[in-house]
Amino acid sequence: MPDRVLARSHAHRTEFFENERELLESLAGHGQFPDAMFIGCSDSRVVPEILTGARPGDLFVVRVVANIVPPYGTGQNAVGAAVEFAVQRLRVEHLIICGHTDCGGIKALDNGVDMVTEPATANWIEFARPAQSQVAALGLTGDARHRAIVEGNVLLQLDNLRTYAAVSHALAENRLELHGWVYDLAELQLRFYDAGQDRFVIFSPSNPQASE
Ligand SMILES: [Zn+2]
Repeated sequence: MPDRVLARSHAHRTEFFENERELLESLAGHGQFPDAMFIGCSDSRVVPEILTGARPGDLFVVRVVANIVPPYGTGQNAVGAAVEFAVQRLRVEHLIICGHTDCGGIKALDNGVDMVTEPATANWIEFARPAQSQVAALGLTGDARHRAIVEGNVLLQLDNLRTYAAVSHALAENRLELHGWVYDLAELQLRFYDAGQDRFVIFSPSNPQASE
């Protein structure tokens, strides 16, 4: 039986390879020089290349449940390895953490997960617990509560990024900027963290991306 995923994507792939031949051959010959790394959720609706308009070679990407970056030293090295590669070797200039509304990982964190049936999930999302605890203490409910945890988690994971020597050195050398984004699925809006206002604001061309 033919692989249905392969079969379904064949026409698209053929057209893409043909249309982008020049770019793809250049990338194969000269290597990759992305200027940004994007750490986003695995959610199928949060597509980094679509949100940023990136083409092959533009964006170094990690997608993981609830866009979590385990702090250095926790023994969870998958995301950290990608961060080190991006910052040390590829010398990316921008590092983006992108959360999103209606996040299943954040909902699991807030509503509880069965340790027996989903032990990996239960352990993983604990890396976002401080964000949930902070919001729970405020007594928020519903959408406001969810959004606040999503936003708090983005800021928490930005802090976790700084625990990596590669990141702290690059920041000290002024060759890296950290960015916090939240993609609102229902509103079709991208909000970014404005350090000056200490809150997430809607991006518009007259309100350009703030950085830290
Ligand atoms: Zn998610």
